[in-house]
Amino acid sequence: MTDCIFCRIVAGEIPSRRVFEDADAIAFLDIAPYKPGHTLVVSKRHVPEALADAGALASLAPAITTVGRLLTERLDADGMNVLTNVGEVAGQSVFHLHVHLIPRFEGKAGIRAMLDKDHDIDLDAIQARLLGA
Ligand code: AMP
Ligand code: ZN
Repeated sequence: MTDCIFCRIVAGEIPSRRVFEDADAIAFLDIAPYKPGHTLVVSKRHVPEALADAGALASLAPAITTVGRLLTERLDADGMNVLTNVGEVAGQSVFHLHVHLIPRFEGKAGIRAMLDKDHDIDLDAIQARLLGA
């Protein structure tokens, strides 16, 4: 059994709040979101980070686009931060390729405000909105 937490989520061995899946990626809500709807688009294949493999990041592009639009439409986001951390010094804590989609809303603008975590985010309610329930 692998000790990579995202490989285990991909395999369904650890639960996650999934909102999308295609051939190359799954997307699920970040367990410790910075903003409502903070979602991770995760490679199904184990790749340690975005610069380790030329094709891996590109293979996530369709899922990034689809999930980004879903978050915008269902959560009425006004914008979004799309980012991936490479290396511990850059803030990477899970060494399996993933791209953060962090919806942004009017009133708290700018990249520094992205890091001010919103509190009391109801992950189950957000998943239900994204799945159309
Ligand atoms: P990074 O620091 O860029 O490697 O991002 C890793 C992200 O994974 C963090 O934002 C964590 O909150 C998130 N995370 C870690 N474990 C889980 C999990 N079991 N389910 C959902 N998100 C997770
Ligand atoms: Zn992995």
